[in-house]
Amino acid sequence: MPLRTCIACRKKVEKARLVRLVAGGGTLRYDRDAVLEGRGAYICPDKDCLAAAYKKGAFQRAIKTKAGLPDIDALWVDIEDGSKSNKTTRAADKTAPASKGG
Ligand SMILES: [Zn+2]
Repeated sequence: MPLRTCIACRKKVEKARLVRLVAGGGTLRYDRDAVLEGRGAYICPDKDCLAAAYKKGAFQRAIKTKAGLPDIDALWVDIEDGSKSNKTTRAADKTAPASKGG
């Protein structure tokens, strides 16, 4: 399992346990499915780390963006949401054939 360094606390953590944030479209976005292109930064799914990163400008340094950061609370909601749904395996396909009528 590859390790990544949290930009806020500098701890090395398994990549899968961190959240990836990517600069794009003039803002910072949460790359929930690790599909966005661009320079990314890894951070713990922890609000303290997020707040610390904001405070010390860690995102600007890691991503080298001059873009403004999104509202920390809005970003946090996204991260919380995503890391919750990451824990449940999305293996089950919900496209079961629905039999209508009857
Ligand atoms: Zn951290």
